[in-house]
Amino acid sequence: MKEMKYIFGSVPSRRMGLSLGVSPIPKKTCNYACTYCQLGKTYNLANTRQMFYPVQDIIAEFEETIANSPNFDVVTIVGEGEPTLYLGLGDLISEIKKRTDKPVAVITNAALLYDENVQLELSKADIVLPSMDAYDNTTYRKINRPYGKLNYDEVYKGLVTFSEKYEGQLWLEIMLIDEVNDDEEALNNYAKLLNNIKYDRLYLNTPVRPPAESYVKEINSEKMLYAVEKLGGISIDLLKSLGFQSEIKDDLKAILSIIKRHPMNQFEIEEFLKSRECTNIDEIISDLKKDEQVDVIDYKGYITYRLK
Ligand code: SF4
Repeated sequence: MKEMKYIFGSVPSRRMGLSLGVSPIPKKTCNYACTYCQLGKTYNLANTRQMFYPVQDIIAEFEETIANSPNFDVVTIVGEGEPTLYLGLGDLISEIKKRTDKPVAVITNAALLYDENVQLELSKADIVLPSMDAYDNTTYRKINRPYGKLNYDEVYKGLVTFSEKYEGQLWLEIMLIDEVNDDEEALNNYAKLLNNIKYDRLYLNTPVRPPAESYVKEINSEKMLYAVEKLGGISIDLLKSLGFQSEIKDDLKAILSIIKRHPMNQFEIEEFLKSRECTNIDEIISDLKKDEQVDVIDYKGYITYRLK
């Protein structure tokens, strides 16, 4: 199978099982530059919705992918940045839904949920997974480093309004960062803010893959358990994930296609290659290390591979 531009995986998602990814956004195009971003630094900070690619081009690849009957539980529109910046999002969701019975999910940073068009487009998805990492404008600027005039109060109001209208599953996520938004005061603030949001699930996360800024640290398991107890959420850390998959036959190309959107550590790569009955695992890992487009990062004792 040829290399895909818009479709990737399936990749294991601890929240959703095997996720077939759809990326309608050019690399690192986002209205945030989160300090914890696992894709690295945002070099295209933008807040204008655009038709980056024709919907029919993405759908043509989607059709080609599902013609090979790949194994997946959910189609996730996730992007290499923020998917609500894609002006064709509503049509894209509708067209995907015509072609599969599997649920369609959208992962969003929630920045544009105040926009009524975005609300309408997202209402077509079965699952929307918005983030709410900050609890006020100061933590918003510190963690998410949003584009220009984006303002926390407006973003929060958008999230509340969308949650009231949306009829699908709303799964919220809060990224907890050590000594940034994990103390008692922060948790009390989140608890108050959550009271106004109609959500189905709350996931608590902490940066487990190399963040954009090396000073960002994950919280320890004790703090995570306390946050779970206090906010009533589910710790993503405690969820098991399935293995990575790819329809691309060439092992090295398959890994490159995944790490373009989703960093993998050495263990995950080895397991992925074993699952494909690969006989030259060491050679492929050595090729990855030599490849100039691959960042090899030693993070918390694990070697992690990410496309530059
Ligand atoms: S974590 Fe998501 S919202 Fe934040 S910079 Fe990265 S892609 Fe954008």
